[in-house]
Amino acid sequence: MSISELDAKHIWHPLTQHHTSSPPIPIKCASGAVLYAEDGREFIDGIASWYTAVYGHCHPDIIKAVSEQMQQLDQVVFTGFTHAPATKLAQKLFEILPPNQQKMFFNDNGSTAVEAGIKMALQYHHNKGQKRKVLIALEDGFHGDTFGAMSVSGLSVYNGPFEDYFLKVVRIPTPKGANNEQVASTLQELIATHDCAAFVYEPLVQGAAGMKMYDAAGLSLLLDICKAKDIITIADEVMTGFGKTGKHFASLHINTYPDIMCLSKALTAGMLPMSLTTCSQHIYDAFLDEEVTKGFFHAHTYSANPLACTAAIAGIDLLLSTGIQERIKAIEQQHHAFAKALLKHSKASGVRVKGVILALELEVTMERYGQKRQALYDYFMDLGVCLRPLGNTIYVLPPYVITDTQLKKVYTAIENALDHF
Ligand SMILES: *Cc1c(COP(=O)(O)O)cnc(C)c1O
Repeated sequence: MSISELDAKHIWHPLTQHHTSSPPIPIKCASGAVLYAEDGREFIDGIASWYTAVYGHCHPDIIKAVSEQMQQLDQVVFTGFTHAPATKLAQKLFEILPPNQQKMFFNDNGSTAVEAGIKMALQYHHNKGQKRKVLIALEDGFHGDTFGAMSVSGLSVYNGPFEDYFLKVVRIPTPKGANNEQVASTLQELIATHDCAAFVYEPLVQGAAGMKMYDAAGLSLLLDICKAKDIITIADEVMTGFGKTGKHFASLHINTYPDIMCLSKALTAGMLPMSLTTCSQHIYDAFLDEEVTKGFFHAHTYSANPLACTAAIAGIDLLLSTGIQERIKAIEQQHHAFAKALLKHSKASGVRVKGVILALELEVTMERYGQKRQALYDYFMDLGVCLRPLGNTIYVLPPYVITDTQLKKVYTAIENALDHF
């Protein structure tokens, strides 16, 4: 049987209605910013394979580091043992994270990083003898697909069948500059009327919501209010981390740092699944006690997998390299120039850029998973460009190694789509 036949026979794909969807495209290999299909077609990976492969697919440095590591130590239980890949990763990462971050906890994907963050915050209050049950989240946030993560996510398209089983969550709008004071007072009202434990947010850019961008000063205000009430701030940087907003982390655009951070996606450079929940010393200290059960009894079997840690170390080395830093700046500049050109187009609205992220609204009504949106997706694919519009929001988040010519091709595809739809 062919790949496609076997796939149709046995495989259940994520975010897919198999009754109506067209069959997935078999991909044979990938290199740099390009995906190569079995049938000979090529696609520019305009979203870095869901924001993971930011240094390019199959980067030789990552391959070399991981191949060497796999001959040394493949996997070991991370309770009772430790290893150099984990400690070296810690050393490298804490040099670039906001300076208040001190400890890291390993998980294996973005959702479980958020899940662990929520559990840390809830147990932090529990250990202090306080009953705090309510979580604060932003409207339209997305934090993953496990129950805690779904609970704080505000995108109902994913949550429908499960809402009855959620944690208690109250929501505030994103601060947009003009409404900062109003959002701040909404937050204060909620805090006064609920036992709030934590505030979970995607800093500055809400990815799944459609790369919605919001105000740093407004977020800073919200974080200060939370800090004053010992409400644990949890920055979900699963999407924004590792250079995407122009700084290593979006939280570095703001002076008030989060208590807890969630990292995944580009963490391992698109090579292996892993995530981290990092926290400040004062969170960690609340779990130290003579009583065993005050510890954080949460674990994933593949915690700190040495290969994944090694990919992450090699990824950070690349992130800090002059070559990649220059590409991040160059992409941002080109995005700004393209955004300017787009503003003249009657069918483009809400054009925005932050770091390597560019997004715009196509002035055509589209459902998030409707037929028109599918036609737009197919249109890009026919032009050899992989973009995944979120409803009528078209966005680009390319691998940093994308060449100027390839980026131009992505822009041209978007311009053509604006004329075509
Ligand atoms: C993708 C994403 C998640 C979920 O990560 P998974 O690895 O898919 O579980 C959580 N938060 C944000 C902001 C994300 O972009």
